[in-house]
Amino acid sequence: MDQKKYTISLFGEFVDKSLEDEFLAESLDASKKITAYMALVFGAILGLFVVESYITEGGTALFAGITPLRLVFILVSILVFLTARKTTKHKHLVYIVSFYQVMMGIVYLLTLKHFDSLTFFSILGLMVITLAMYLVPNKIAISQIISIVFSVLFFIYPSHKLVDIQTYEFYRVVAYQTILLVYCNIIYCWAETTKRKTFIANRKLLDLSSKDPLTGIYNRKMFDDAMDQWIGFSKRSGHPLSLILFDIDYFKGVNDNFGHMVGDRVLKDVAAIVKQSIRNTDIFARWGGDEFAILLPNTDLEKAEKLAERLKGCIANYCPPESPNKITCSFGVAQYEQNDTKQSLLRRVDDLLLEAKTGGRDKVVS
Ligand code: GH3
Ligand code: MG
Repeated sequence: MDQKKYTISLFGEFVDKSLEDEFLAESLDASKKITAYMALVFGAILGLFVVESYITEGGTALFAGITPLRLVFILVSILVFLTARKTTKHKHLVYIVSFYQVMMGIVYLLTLKHFDSLTFFSILGLMVITLAMYLVPNKIAISQIISIVFSVLFFIYPSHKLVDIQTYEFYRVVAYQTILLVYCNIIYCWAETTKRKTFIANRKLLDLSSKDPLTGIYNRKMFDDAMDQWIGFSKRSGHPLSLILFDIDYFKGVNDNFGHMVGDRVLKDVAAIVKQSIRNTDIFARWGGDEFAILLPNTDLEKAEKLAERLKGCIANYCPPESPNKITCSFGVAQYEQNDTKQSLLRRVDDLLLEAKTGGRDKVVS
């Protein structure tokens, strides 16, 4: 397990960019839902504000001034609700959420403009909106910038309207807001770090249950599941599917002559050579002992045979450490046929491998 790859920054993000992208892609569904439903809740709250102010101050200049702003925010919330749910890329969600956070700040500051003087409630509003900005999931650096700019604008732009407030009280409010910002950031970073730690733990568990610990390639259980899946797909779609089973020749001899450590090294090296030579979409697993299997989706027998010959050549070029002898392998290659089951396909390819062994080894039989 590459510990360095899993390093999490102070901001609660993976330092490794590709791992961070994988995490974001995996958590996109949850982030989309949170954003959409938060927008719905915020829009509904503003809707209640409009109703409440219509009842208490409907017809006044203040009502006429702030209601359009609130309606704009409700519209933006509906827009965010609709677009966030349809997003397929995390990058787009970042744009949507950043826009929404900016709109929260702008609408609030413009609303304050319509008040002659600011009260305790205006300061409460500042704090509630800061909290709201951290309730929608965004890149922490963006949330920080938006919330800090919003706080600063609140204190410089309508501060002259804070009429009933003493200077020392003004600084006290600034201090409270700063504490709130620090608190939000700590909680946000901690939550993001925890999410990523859970992601790493899940990854490690998945690796343990699906990979062979010695070679790092898939284990037999994972291969079995993949076979079920791809046989089902080929049955439905008619796409070709091929299977290669190969076994190292005279591997017992390597163990007996050079020890198990060298034997293990050979298994690892052979797996690495093969892994390098196949496509990412091919499923490669350790079938057991010195036997390996490769499932080749969308590949017919002719191509599978060519691949097996190529792999035979690559392995033949490899010479294990401390051993003067080259390593060779025997291959059985078969293509899935319409009436095949997993068992019948495996039996056929196993028989072909046996034929390669009895026919002198270092051979491809299909
Ligand atoms: P053949 O050409 O017929 O395949 O002969 P072989 O000697 O390779 O015989 P076989 O495939 O039956 O032997 C597999 C050997 O692989 C037996 C076992 O000791 C060894 N083996 C299985 N798993 C491991 C492992 O994890 N590490 C090591 N070093 N050896 C293993
Ligand atoms: Mg063998």
